[in-house]
Amino acid sequence: MHPLAPCQVIGIFDPRASYEAALRENPDNLQNSSTGGRQKRGVATHSKFWASHRTLKIAFINPPSHAHRNAVINAIKHWQNSINLTLEFVDDATGDIRITLEAPANYSAIGTDATLRQPHQNTMNVGTDLMHPQFEATVMHEFGHALGMEHEHQHPHADIPWDKPKVYDVYLHNFNWSKEQVDHNFFRTLDAINTRTTPYDKLSIMHYKIPNEFTTGDWSVENNSTISQKDRRLMRKVYPRNKEDRATSPPPRISLAEIKFATFITGNT
Ligand SMILES: [Zn+2]
Repeated sequence: MHPLAPCQVIGIFDPRASYEAALRENPDNLQNSSTGGRQKRGVATHSKFWASHRTLKIAFINPPSHAHRNAVINAIKHWQNSINLTLEFVDDATGDIRITLEAPANYSAIGTDATLRQPHQNTMNVGTDLMHPQFEATVMHEFGHALGMEHEHQHPHADIPWDKPKVYDVYLHNFNWSKEQVDHNFFRTLDAINTRTTPYDKLSIMHYKIPNEFTTGDWSVENNSTISQKDRRLMRKVYPRNKEDRATSPPPRISLAEIKFATFITGNT
């Protein structure tokens, strides 16, 4: 049984706009970008993290109830002690992150891609029902995207033994996805650049549930329901709260020449 469709990130169809938005917000995103045309795969390879220590305003568009809104806020706050951002929940609908709570889909923009959404558009949706056992985990997962995190099962070292025909069969027929959607969300691996220096983590809140039937051999990942230690380690590197965090994240320097020759990709594979 697959009662919930997995999360899909909000794709940005203009990679150059995404790149420029990421750099405008946080120049450190450049150190994680491909330069000199070395990228082998057609995926955006810059990171999309917010500027350190900034205030991130979080708004709700037409929340169905105070209880629903508060449950989302409480779940988001699980990230707070691993980041140096100030999370400010605002009462009107204008925020850096704009959340809708409409069933059934779950999706979010990745980090600074949210700045490319129109002011009236949401940047994140939590469609999982408030009473569902996975509600809190779903919010933490979607907000991980909002902080700039990608899907963990697309980590370059995930090496998942996919039974691809089986996955296509389930998603094309049960969820009406296209083959391209399955490829994009399941099988496409991201460059190491997106996942920075943390090793692949089966316990990540950013991992899809992978039933055994989707793989060959005995391989599966359950519904992860908490933010893992490695998730927190990554966020502490990106948004260091103290000297110890910073010490684990030496900032690689990049030359002006490299900035000048940074290349942009089209998103074609
Ligand atoms: Zn996701």
